[in-house]
Amino acid sequence: MHIVMLAGECVPYAKVGGLADVLGSLPHELEALGYSVSLIIPRYRSIDLARFGFEPLVGFSSKTFDVHRAILPGSNAQVFLIGNDAFFGRRGIYTDPVTGWDFPDQADRWIFFQRSAMEFVAAVLPQVDILHCNDHQTGLVPAYHQRFYRGHSTLARTGTVFTIHNMGYQGVFPADTMARTGFNTAEFFPLSPFEFYGMLNFMKVGVVFSDAVTTVSETYALEIQQSAEFGYGLEGVVRSRMEPPIGILNGIDYATWNPANDPLLPARYSQDDLEGKRKNKQAVLREFGLDESRIDRPLLAMISRIDVQKGVDLLIGVLPGLLSQDVTFVMLGAGNKEIESQIETILSGYPRKAALKLGYDDRLAHLIEAGADIFLMPSKYEPCGLNQMYSMRYGTVPVVRATGGLSDTVQEFDPNTGRGTGFRFGPYDPLHFRNAINRALRYWGDPRSWRRIISNGMESDFSWARSARRYVELYESVRSRYEA
Ligand code: ADP
Repeated sequence: MHIVMLAGECVPYAKVGGLADVLGSLPHELEALGYSVSLIIPRYRSIDLARFGFEPLVGFSSKTFDVHRAILPGSNAQVFLIGNDAFFGRRGIYTDPVTGWDFPDQADRWIFFQRSAMEFVAAVLPQVDILHCNDHQTGLVPAYHQRFYRGHSTLARTGTVFTIHNMGYQGVFPADTMARTGFNTAEFFPLSPFEFYGMLNFMKVGVVFSDAVTTVSETYALEIQQSAEFGYGLEGVVRSRMEPPIGILNGIDYATWNPANDPLLPARYSQDDLEGKRKNKQAVLREFGLDESRIDRPLLAMISRIDVQKGVDLLIGVLPGLLSQDVTFVMLGAGNKEIESQIETILSGYPRKAALKLGYDDRLAHLIEAGADIFLMPSKYEPCGLNQMYSMRYGTVPVVRATGGLSDTVQEFDPNTGRGTGFRFGPYDPLHFRNAINRALRYWGDPRSWRRIISNGMESDFSWARSARRYVELYESVRSRYEA
């Protein structure tokens, strides 16, 4: 079976969020299960072609785009980059790094990418069994397939799967965009698959036209049908599908996220010997310029896009009270400039015990996961979330809001049974968040219980292998509908 995955980002080439990790990890597991995988993303300016062994694809030419090919490191999966410098030869992936806003020609960039990708797939790739699209940047693909490629020999028996990684970003554009998609503009009318409150919505197109819709946790699959709070206006569309969306939790990459052999850490450690964790904690305090004598105080941490989705307003709500206690806090992240400076202002009152580093830094993210005691994730909504899983694997206890994937991966510690991997709160308010942190701090002060919580987390299975089997089951069932 041949799976073609399309997306706007993929590790190790281009990453904004968890979507890139999925694209970079899932192919390995699918291959192990006997599937062949091709990946297609844009050729961004930031991708170092030589470093990853990308070569121009010979024997294929198009007037409007070029194609480079390489092998995904550590696998046999082929990666194809669709190139066009006018659209992708600039800095930034979805947003302009100068303004922080979406590129003004965002719709045209993704229309171009999707049409080019389909042209390339039809012209070059062998029989495709599944087109697996991800988020709104590839939401039109199932419709292009349906409208223009069903008659094409290698795409005649192809099924489409659409994965929603984040319902908060739907790709909603003015109605006149429809004319530039290549679809018949007569298909744009109130309540049609293309129309959304007078606008064109790429995510809606993906949801309506795909054979199967998945999202990245079981709880989020329910939440996006329930209310506008999670569905962002598409809850009714999702609900009206014949088959509801399927939740398949993302795995984490066990090769790159393993405290026992992580090359990005000054000290490695395992569940049986946590001494290295303490050394990493020391390194965190040093790198953040904090008082290193605080090594014996609880270190709370957060690594996150600085965005309302991530619950930063709750963080701002609890920080002053929290920092009046004898705790240490570090944060790594970047995003909304206004929120960044609000956090900075609060932390500046506690220069020896709290610090924020702005920017994206993979090495430091690993170090923080290894060195922290408690990891905070008060998300407003969280389709899956990766950091809570990295935390548990690194023996760092998560405090999370019980939503989406956080709800599916973190269990509240129960001192009676000794089970549970972290601390949770439900209502979205600072008081409940603060209470959950206080519970964590209380158990931190009880080494036996704390040790138990750490072990429970480190023993949990968040590998991709389990999730990949579920994708395979879905691919098989979708594919069987088109069997000759
Ligand atoms: P989202 O995709 O919504 O941003 P996830 O938790 O699913 O959230 O994935 C975020 C990924 O990005 C994780 O791998 C996380 O470690 C990483 N990350 C986020 N912000 C930073 C940062 N400032 N520096 C390094 N890594 C970061």
